[in-house]
Amino acid sequence: MDISRFQEVIRDTYIHHDRRRGLERTLDWLVSEVYELRQAIEAGKGIEEELADVLAWLASVANLLGIDLEKAAVERYGEGCPKCSSKPCRCQYREGPDKDVVLLLRTQS
Ligand SMILES: [Zn+2]
Repeated sequence: MDISRFQEVIRDTYIHHDRRRGLERTLDWLVSEVYELRQAIEAGKGIEEELADVLAWLASVANLLGIDLEKAAVERYGEGCPKCSSKPCRCQYREGPDKDVVLLLRTQS
């Protein structure tokens, strides 16, 4: 199953719930599932399920936005790093995300 087919399955399964919930609350679910993935990795169990959940919620967000996730991913990463256009990436190594993002995530949990 490719990304487009997976997105289609998620649309067929959940679009009625996703539309009722709306974009903002569906995004909240995605963030919540990313946090659960972090907890699963720290606990060393349930990691595959949490990875699948993150991908499913990401597909729900894309469905609500009417965006083809596979097309977006291929356009951005299909040729390697979108910043330096290389495989492997030749950009300067960065330890973590921007400080603003980290602060935001810490206030959420
Ligand atoms: Zn790069």
